[in-house]
Amino acid sequence: MSVAAPHPVQIAPPGLSRWAHSATGVDHVQERAGAQPGPEVLVTALVHGNEYSGAMALDAFLRTGLVPRRGRITAAFCNTAAFARFDSGQPDASRFVDEDFNRVWSARSLDSERASQELLRARELRPFVDRATHLLDLHSMHEPCAPLFVTGMLPRNIAFAQALGTPVQAVVDEGHADGVRMRDYGPFGEPAGSRIALLLEAGQHWELSSLHAARNVLMRFLVQAGALDRADVPTGWLLPDALPPPPIHVTHRVVARSMDFEFSQDFRGGETIRRSGTAIASDAGQPVVTPYDDCVLVMPSVRQLRPGVTTVRLGRRQGRVLG
Ligand SMILES: [Zn+2]
Repeated sequence: MSVAAPHPVQIAPPGLSRWAHSATGVDHVQERAGAQPGPEVLVTALVHGNEYSGAMALDAFLRTGLVPRRGRITAAFCNTAAFARFDSGQPDASRFVDEDFNRVWSARSLDSERASQELLRARELRPFVDRATHLLDLHSMHEPCAPLFVTGMLPRNIAFAQALGTPVQAVVDEGHADGVRMRDYGPFGEPAGSRIALLLEAGQHWELSSLHAARNVLMRFLVQAGALDRADVPTGWLLPDALPPPPIHVTHRVVARSMDFEFSQDFRGGETIRRSGTAIASDAGQPVVTPYDDCVLVMPSVRQLRPGVTTVRLGRRQGRVLG
């Protein structure tokens, strides 16, 4: 197996204590309301405690003092208990306290008697998620990788992502078998609904480029949702307009069966493997092969390797002839 040393920490964790006290009554949740009616935009960061580039973008947004022209913008720093444990010597250790905050977003879990740090926090934040017409959930990735939107399966979210004017790759996937993500919660997942939910994977957790990607997407999302006009965006936030690549539809997840899982190359994600049957990894001595031609690798990582963990997703680029 590969030895996964922590990546260097280029950006220091932000101080968020100024946002702890809140008129909402829920700590680290801040609201900015406009004079006119409009969208209920919720921007979330620190769903995973060690992914703080999104928290830095959200902190910077709040410091601008910007107020929406229309509707309300709610900024929520989610798993602050896990973030408080961040240690640059063990940067992967503060993802969560008891369980993954991004797997508890079903009514069954939220309404249950079960308690964990993450469930208690999710119950506090649930009213803000319930009222949101637009959700942007800011994350980052274990490995250096170009930014991605995780859109879920609904066409309205894919279209919203593709219209933002960023080069961010839309990844269309069904979510996780081991629990429901916030972006798939309740009305966000209803095909007949109109609510928008996007999850941004801004890049590697502690790279400066991830912060720039998060800032760019945050402002563009607020404009496209209708909360701000483009002219309201302060200078220095937006990266140049760009055309997005065609979405990738995830078809398979490769799950490690052993601790002897190893990729055949140093894949970074986004690679297209031309021929079906090409070995991309070995697991317990057996080759792991691509199931079809022009197979795209999404978020390869063995950083949290153990049997049962997803090591890479496989997908097809929309618009290609299916093999
Ligand atoms: Zn995350």
